[in-house]
Amino acid sequence: MSDLKDKLYRELELKVITVVEGINVDPHIFKHLDLGRRFQEEIHGAFEMDHETHVGIKFPAGFTSPHGLNFPFRWNRNSAYGLSYEKGQYFLTHKKETLFPVTFLDRPKYYGLTTSDGTPMSNIATYLQDGVLAICYSNECALKETGQDCKYCNINATHDTYAEKEGISWKYPKQIGETVAAAYREGGRHLTITGGFVPERREVEYYLDVADAIKEHTGLQDFNGTACIGAPHDLSVIDKYKEAGYRTIATNIEIWDKNIFKAICPGKDQQCGGYDNWVKTLEYEAQVFGRGRVRSNIVAGLEPKQSILEGIEYLASKGVICFANAWCPNPGSELEGHRSPEAAWHFDLYKKIAAIFRKNGFTHEQLYDCMAAPNTVVHDIYRIEDELLPVFQKKAA
Ligand code: SF4
Repeated sequence: MSDLKDKLYRELELKVITVVEGINVDPHIFKHLDLGRRFQEEIHGAFEMDHETHVGIKFPAGFTSPHGLNFPFRWNRNSAYGLSYEKGQYFLTHKKETLFPVTFLDRPKYYGLTTSDGTPMSNIATYLQDGVLAICYSNECALKETGQDCKYCNINATHDTYAEKEGISWKYPKQIGETVAAAYREGGRHLTITGGFVPERREVEYYLDVADAIKEHTGLQDFNGTACIGAPHDLSVIDKYKEAGYRTIATNIEIWDKNIFKAICPGKDQQCGGYDNWVKTLEYEAQVFGRGRVRSNIVAGLEPKQSILEGIEYLASKGVICFANAWCPNPGSELEGHRSPEAAWHFDLYKKIAAIFRKNGFTHEQLYDCMAAPNTVVHDIYRIEDELLPVFQKKAA
């Protein structure tokens, strides 16, 4: 079995590298792929994650490695990694040398459906594979009004580039309820509601209406939802999310170092009661929702590794699962053109985070329930170590 785990760790290392470095392709290579019908396409529901924008060019959402790890596709014309195509098969390459064959991700059936008001469901909920949906109710952030956008974030630039062309806008509770019901009928089992800041921070009423619509359309009281919110001034509203039926809650602190937080996230600092209120919010959320039922995230690569690890240790001791996914200097963000640390830096960090989670008793099920994406590198480390990937069953059979 350790041979299989070794192979999986080699694939995982390549996943980290291709996320950080991106993948260089001539978009014409995808002319052989039934994108947008059989295979899942990228949709710009909130952020452009490719290294440059590509209006009018469709890319696949991602692909699977030979032993079953899901890789996101991140386009970068400067990368040494690429894809090749030969006799009906695509391959991951490095400097044109073939590394392994890849299989693109299946498109969920609900992507072909529309809500009762005629909106494509693919524009309401992004499918992140493994039964997980991400619903970005507002694909704009009100922080732009005051020039206080987080410096790594490109939500408003992505909106300006794609929203009109791709028909993506504000989502209404009924649209979300109908879409979640359709997705859950074909195996969906977890969702996150998130979005940019809305004017006057009116998010709580909206989240409660969304929870009601999901319950009405799915018939589920516990729909395994995560409410992703900014730190509120009045912490008692957190109880309302729990009462509304969200199983988990998320508040992304983004940066652990207090001074760097102020510089990188001026709006989160000035509009939400300051850094200390973000920490207090997370601690209170863990009291209301329970240990392992609260998530945070740090944008990894903007502060020293030691600072990130201190934050993750501290929050874990309070019952909060804080991820630190690799920063990609997204196009349209203020940090466009900067560089993330090397992939090896990130891979080492991911392994240390997984060790902290283990030490604090967090399970894969808790990671799955509270994180927006089901396939982060830390999830993969758990699935390799706990032998949860389908490839382990095939081996045992
Ligand atoms: S709060 Fe910051 S990270 Fe969140 S959407 Fe607004 S600018 Fe982006």
